[in-house]
Amino acid sequence: MSQTEQIPAVQLNDGVSIPQLGFGVFQVPPEDTERAVTDALEAGYRHIDTAAAYRNEAGVGKAIAASGLPRDELFITTKLWNDQQGREKTIQAFAASAERLALDVVDLYLIHWPIAMADRYVETFEAFVTLRDEGRIRSIGVSNFQEDHLRRVIDEVGVTPSVNQVELHPYLQQPGLRQLHEELGIATEAWSPIAQGAVLDDPVIRRIAQEVDRTPAQVTLRWHIQIGNVVIPKSVTPERVRENLALFDFSLTDEHVDAIAALDRDERTGPDPATFSLGA
Ligand code: NDP
Repeated sequence: MSQTEQIPAVQLNDGVSIPQLGFGVFQVPPEDTERAVTDALEAGYRHIDTAAAYRNEAGVGKAIAASGLPRDELFITTKLWNDQQGREKTIQAFAASAERLALDVVDLYLIHWPIAMADRYVETFEAFVTLRDEGRIRSIGVSNFQEDHLRRVIDEVGVTPSVNQVELHPYLQQPGLRQLHEELGIATEAWSPIAQGAVLDDPVIRRIAQEVDRTPAQVTLRWHIQIGNVVIPKSVTPERVRENLALFDFSLTDEHVDAIAALDRDERTGPDPATFSLGA
């Protein structure tokens, strides 16, 4: 089996399938993005995670077009930035993202942050439903939402987001939120899955890496896969791009999974969604 064929699919609550492993492009400079995404597609990734705020959607679009891969073999996510929330702005911002990506249809569109103080995320998600119903987006979700934000969207819009993309790694495992997602039928997608490298020197992860003869990054990403997270590591280093994909010919034991579970210390590397309001 090729690397691509080995990547499991996760079925979302709307019937759409998402590859469980994708390639993130946060902090990839716009001028380097076409090359980075081309490397990722050549290595076998088929799921790319970008955002309007990353300013590199056009590079993602160029790599997709140059790849010659059939559109239905790719899964492309982008996100609505904080200053674009609200019904009309959302419709326009989506059109601009789709144009930069040179795609008619986006596979997954996410509200990047709730920005609860602006109180526009419910109206924004209603616009997402409209765009989905018009066939412009296959699946609609959110990012950095906490329990109260999720429940409000579900109650007031009547549609459950398919995905909540949140910071999640061995030092911030979010057990309560993961449990809630399971109850509500929302897929958990992990951003900064290796905590931007901060977990790679952890003695427990290093010990497991030695035992399974893999790298600490592979152990951490395999842990995400085994606990059911969708995971989107980022790298602009070709060897690491390939390393992060080679997760499907080994597995962790229950003891390994439990040992990583014990590393949780509720430690964020990124902003706290309760207070983050950049750009709003
Ligand atoms: P990651 O946890 O994926 O870490 C990326 C960092 O780790 C880079 O510095 C990279 O270096 C390094 N790295 C990658 N692979 C390896 C490896 N095998 N060995 C050693 N070092 C490695 O962090 P990100 O914050 O980038 O998160 C991943 C993706 O999640 C983003 O790209 C984005 O798509 C998404 N995201 C979403 C957010 C949201 O609010 N929704 C917020 C943040 C991220 P190098 O590139 O130099 O190889």
